[in-house]
Amino acid sequence: MKKLLYLLVILVFANCSSANKETQIIILSTNDMHAMIDNYAKVAAYIDKVRTENKNVLLLSAGDMYSGNPVVDRYDDKGYPMIDIMNKIGYDYGALGNHEFDYGQDFLSKRIKQAKFPLLCANMKVSEQALIGQPEPYVIFNLDGIEVCILATVQVEDSNGKLIPSTHPDRVKNIDFFQPVETALEYKSLRQKCDLFISLSHDGIDEDVTLAQKMPELDIIIGGHSHTLVNGIIENGVLISQTESYLKYIGKTTVTLKDKKIADKKFELIDVSTLQDENEEVKAYIDKLYKDTPLNEVVGKAASNFTNKENLGCLMTDAVTEILNLDIAFQNSGGIRIGEIKEGDISLLILYRLDPFDNDVILFEMTYDEIYSLLKNSYRKDSKYADLKTSGISYVIKTKNNEVADIEIRDINGNLLDKNKKYKVGMNSYIASVYKFDHADAGKSLNVQSADALVEYVKQQKEVNPQPDRTKIEEM
Ligand SMILES: [Zn+2]
Repeated sequence: MKKLLYLLVILVFANCSSANKETQIIILSTNDMHAMIDNYAKVAAYIDKVRTENKNVLLLSAGDMYSGNPVVDRYDDKGYPMIDIMNKIGYDYGALGNHEFDYGQDFLSKRIKQAKFPLLCANMKVSEQALIGQPEPYVIFNLDGIEVCILATVQVEDSNGKLIPSTHPDRVKNIDFFQPVETALEYKSLRQKCDLFISLSHDGIDEDVTLAQKMPELDIIIGGHSHTLVNGIIENGVLISQTESYLKYIGKTTVTLKDKKIADKKFELIDVSTLQDENEEVKAYIDKLYKDTPLNEVVGKAASNFTNKENLGCLMTDAVTEILNLDIAFQNSGGIRIGEIKEGDISLLILYRLDPFDNDVILFEMTYDEIYSLLKNSYRKDSKYADLKTSGISYVIKTKNNEVADIEIRDINGNLLDKNKKYKVGMNSYIASVYKFDHADAGKSLNVQSADALVEYVKQQKEVNPQPDRTKIEEM
C-alpha cells in the first residue's frame, strides 16, 4: 500500500511537471542576403554557437538570396555557391524572394533541387509549362513537442495588369501570383493545427504591418524585401522583425512556451560587425571563391570617386549611348546596385556589382512627347526623386504641390531638346517592360546586356570620370 501511494505521488508529480513544461525555441533569421556572402563566415560561427548552447534552434531565410554579387550571380552554374554555403550552414526553411527568379526558371529549378532546405511560397501557382515545380505554401513540423507552422509569401506588383514579383516579367512566365496578404488570410485556420505560427514573408514591412493587423492568428512575422531594420515591433499582438540586408544583421527571436502556450516572445538584432569568431570552413570556401573568380580582371580606372547613384547612373547610360551608338539612354535607380566606385582600378567584379542583372538593352525610336511621358511617369512623388538617370540629355522636373507641372529637357549641348525629331533611345529590358510610357515603336532588343556595354565602355575609355548631375527637381 505504501509502495502504491509512493508510485501515485510520483505519477501525479510527473504529470504536473509535464503540464508545466517550458520549451524555448530560438529562431535565427536572415533576409535579402543578395549573394553578399562576405559575412557568412561570422554568421556561421554565431549560428554554430547558438546551436551548441540551445536545444531548439531554427534557421530561416526570408528571401532574396541572389542578385548583388557577381561572384555568385555570374558563376557558371548561376547561384550555386550561395546555396552551397547555405547548405553548409544548415538553413531549415526559406521563403522564395522576388530576386530568386532573376536567373530564370531553369536555374531556379536547379537551385531548388540543390537546396537542402525547402523553399516555400503560398501566393504562386505554377502551370505545367513552367520550368519549376509548385512550391509548398507552408510547412508544419514538430520541434521538441511543439507544433510549428511556417507560412511563406512573396511580394507582387502590377505589371501590365498582371501581378508578378519584382523581376523581369519574362522570368515568371507560366506562373500566376496573388496578393500576399490576401493569400495568407486564407491560411488562418492553420492556427488550430499549431502552437507556434510563423509568417516567413518576403512582402516588405508595410505589407507585414497590414498582415499583422488582419491576422492576429499569427505569432511572428519574419520579414524581408524592403531592406528595413525592424527591431522587433509588436503590431496587433504579432511580433514583426526584419534584418535590413546583405547579412549586416542576424535576427534572433526567442519564444518561450509553457504547456505549449506562448508565454513570451522577444526579438534581438545581432550586429554582425561586432562578431569576432569565424567558421574556418566557410571562410576558406568564400576566400577561394573570390581568389579563383575570373572577375578580378582589371578593365579600367576611375579618375576620382563615384559617390552616388546620379554619377554611377551617368556612367552606365554613357556606356549604352557610346557603345551602341544611340542618342539617349535611361537607367532606373533600382538597377544601380552599388553606392560608389572608389578612385583607382575598376575590375569586372565592380562593374557587374553595379549592374548585376542580365538585362538586354532595348532600342526605341522615340519622339519628344514620348520621352516626356517616360520622365513624367518615372518621377517618384513620395521621395521627390527623379528615378531615371540619363545620357544624351539632362532634365529638370518642375513640380507644383509635388505634381509634375513641366519638364525641361536639354541635349548635351544645353539646348532645349528638339520637339520635332525622333531619337534612338536605349534602356534596359526591365524599364522597357515595367515602366509606363507612350511609345508607338514596340522596341527591339539589341541583344547586348547593359552590363556588358558597361564593361566594353570602361575598357575603351581606360579611365572614367564622374559627370555633373543631369537630373534636377524644382518646386515652382
Ligand atoms: Zn525582394
